[in-house]
Amino acid sequence: MKTFEYERATDVASAVATLDRTPNAKPLGGGTNLVDLMKLGVERPDLLVDVSRVDFGGVDELPDGGLRIGAGVRNSDLAAHPLVRTRYPALTRALVSAASGQLRNQATTGGNLLQRTRCTYFMDTTKPCNKREPGTGCGAVAGLSRELGILGVNDLCIATHPGDMAVALAALDAIVVFETVDGEQRLPIDEFFREPGDDPTRDTNLPSGALITAVELPSLPVATNSTYRKARDRRSYAFALGSVAAALSVDEAGLVTDVRIALGAASPVPWRARKAEEALVGSPATPASFAAAAQLELAAATTTEQNAFKVPLLTRLVVGVLSELAGLDHEGDDPADPAEDADPSPFRPTGADGSPRRVAADVDPGAATGPEGSAS
Ligand SMILES: Cc1cc2nc3c(=O)[nH]c(=O)nc-3n(C[C@H](O)[C@H](O)[C@H](O)COP(=O)(O)OP(=O)(O)OC[C@H]3O[C@@H](n4cnc5c(N)ncnc54)[C@H](O)[C@@H]3O)c2cc1C
Ligand code: SF4
Repeated sequence: MKTFEYERATDVASAVATLDRTPNAKPLGGGTNLVDLMKLGVERPDLLVDVSRVDFGGVDELPDGGLRIGAGVRNSDLAAHPLVRTRYPALTRALVSAASGQLRNQATTGGNLLQRTRCTYFMDTTKPCNKREPGTGCGAVAGLSRELGILGVNDLCIATHPGDMAVALAALDAIVVFETVDGEQRLPIDEFFREPGDDPTRDTNLPSGALITAVELPSLPVATNSTYRKARDRRSYAFALGSVAAALSVDEAGLVTDVRIALGAASPVPWRARKAEEALVGSPATPASFAAAAQLELAAATTTEQNAFKVPLLTRLVVGVLSELAGLDHEGDDPADPAEDADPSPFRPTGADGSPRRVAADVDPGAATGPEGSAS
């Protein structure tokens, strides 16, 4: 591991000043991603500015009924907060579906947003990777791509944003607040994350030297009826193969009046499914409408042989989540649901011997959690 300097910041101003005058400095939150990547030689900062003891504030109600979440709030505390659980249950569910209890106790809101892709080639310094080392090529495009992206990707990079929390934040219209030497700035979450374009090294539009200080959630009545569902190889302690955060309201006639949908493990960014949302508003809240909207969104997908299963997987997740939020029983076969007709085999990942492998789709109740994300 490369040697580096360490400095503990006491407040936002001093942390920002240090980050500004030291070009290759990085903030240290809980360290659960950054330190791992330093051990692998992927991240090579000269200076770590430890912001884990800076007072960024807790979870506080805003005058309009929204919430301000301090950047240092630990993932477990955020998940368990009563106002988050009641007003934004999708966020609680996303958080408790991630990692393990120990990791969630350590991981911070700011660090979670900036966690890096889990692409195998990115994390292995002996392999080509345009994100880690520009111009070396993308090992994944013709290599191992099962976990990687299908929307917003290009030939330079097909990585995914691996996190769960940011998918819920995307559906909830969160705003990322950060500080630079020029003062406080804000970015809507849609503009915070960036697609690779011609520079896959940059995951976000956060200016260099900036320190995330908070995430704000607007007052969003539809969010009280929201949830998050994650499909993965194991029921606990595994990154998503596909996930959906959604919020829904339906009127007495059974028509959709408001809907928010974001897809996870689908793209380098938490993917807000705006085409699907537009198609659904005013439509009947039925599995058939939900499936048609998901298919519309996913029509733009660019897949590899290994990750093509994500299209039917995400379609089914969208249908399942929206059906749950609409109070429909979607467990059995529904002849009106095109997604039910899809051959299930494409989204059943196979083991080494070609036999079908089970993908766990969790429906975490989102309450306070036990050590491995199980509800208690
Ligand atoms: C085994 C394992 C399993 C996991 N499974 C999941 C999972 O299923 N789902 C999931 O979502 N995540 C998962 N994670 C990832 C985990 O959620 C992240 O590692 C964690 O959220 C990162 O937060 P942190 O505070 O530790 O960040 P750090 O590791 O401290 O930092 C991460 C990045 O953020 C930057 N940073 C930190 N704080 C700030 C700030 N205030 N302003 C600007 N930059 C900042 C750092 O410089 C660094 O670049 C897993 C991790 C592990 C190790
Ligand atoms: S997908 Fe992106 S992160 Fe993975 S090898 Fe290609 S360039 Fe690197």
